[in-house]
Amino acid sequence: MTSIVVLGSTNMDLVAYVPRAPALGETVTGRAFRTIPGGKGANQAVAAARAGAEVAMIGAVGADDFGVRLRATLEHCAVDTDLLRTVEGSSGTAHIVVDEEGGNAIVVVPGANGTLTSLSHGDEALIGTADTLLLQLELPLPVVVEGAVTARRLGVRTLLTPAPAQPLPPELLAATDLLVPNEHEAAALTGLTDPRAAAQALLRFVPEVVITLGAAGSLYASRGAEPVTVPAPRVRAVDTTGAGDTFVGALAVALGEGRPAPEALAWAQTAAALSVQREGASTSMPYRVEIEAAFHSPHILEVDSA
Ligand code: ATP
Repeated sequence: MTSIVVLGSTNMDLVAYVPRAPALGETVTGRAFRTIPGGKGANQAVAAARAGAEVAMIGAVGADDFGVRLRATLEHCAVDTDLLRTVEGSSGTAHIVVDEEGGNAIVVVPGANGTLTSLSHGDEALIGTADTLLLQLELPLPVVVEGAVTARRLGVRTLLTPAPAQPLPPELLAATDLLVPNEHEAAALTGLTDPRAAAQALLRFVPEVVITLGAAGSLYASRGAEPVTVPAPRVRAVDTTGAGDTFVGALAVALGEGRPAPEALAWAQTAAALSVQREGASTSMPYRVEIEAAFHSPHILEVDSA
């Protein structure tokens, strides 16, 4: 079984469903409200655990009710939370307003995530036991850099999701084995809207790049080889929230098990295609048995779009 450590965020998503987003100073009446455990780190941890990896999470939750629920959600998914700190104050929260067209406006308050600024000896020892370290940009940048540099020193593969998009310090890029932006993040990082051109530009800094392309699939590029586009299964999407995190978690599992990159992308896309057919983020993530069944019999999954 491949072993994955996630150094990342946990957030409680507080989602209000409204006819339209309010302007500043205005009040609108919503029609429903949900609290959904999330955060890119926790979502990737759940996705990888369900896809069949042994997963441990390094992060922080607050000493509040949300923190209790965020930890319990990870534990329910068999994610090891021994190094998930509980700190004074609030857990990370994402305040999300979703309108009738599915458009959204989001305020993220990092809360406990913002307190994790450096690694402990225990964190370093845990990273050293992993095949892969998954990183995103929802923790303070110094600890993300420290995590990547530590993993590189210990010979652990690093996979970075550069979200939310922001300039990446050279030492972080230098310690990244595989960079996985979506097409908007790839464009923000390079100034290039064509994914192939963006991937080529990113290969100057990292040896391998995967750019996710939504319903169009994903693009794999490595130094010295032609980029390959892997189309996604055609499915009827109900809710694409968390599709990217499902893809990354499953991709890390497939690569950790030694599948060649194009096959690993196809396997991860099968997982993501299953997730977009269900509501929610972590709640929609498929189990390994479902991914395997759909991967080997794609007709289970695909709809005829004609
Ligand atoms: P999100 O922020 O919604 O979690 P993202 O912007 O990080 O996602 P995307 O490129 O939108 O990432 O999607 C990630 C992967 O999910 C894609 O590469 C694809 O495999 C799958 N996917 C997304 N949308 C669809 C869809 N409508 N049909 C099939 N697969 C999809």
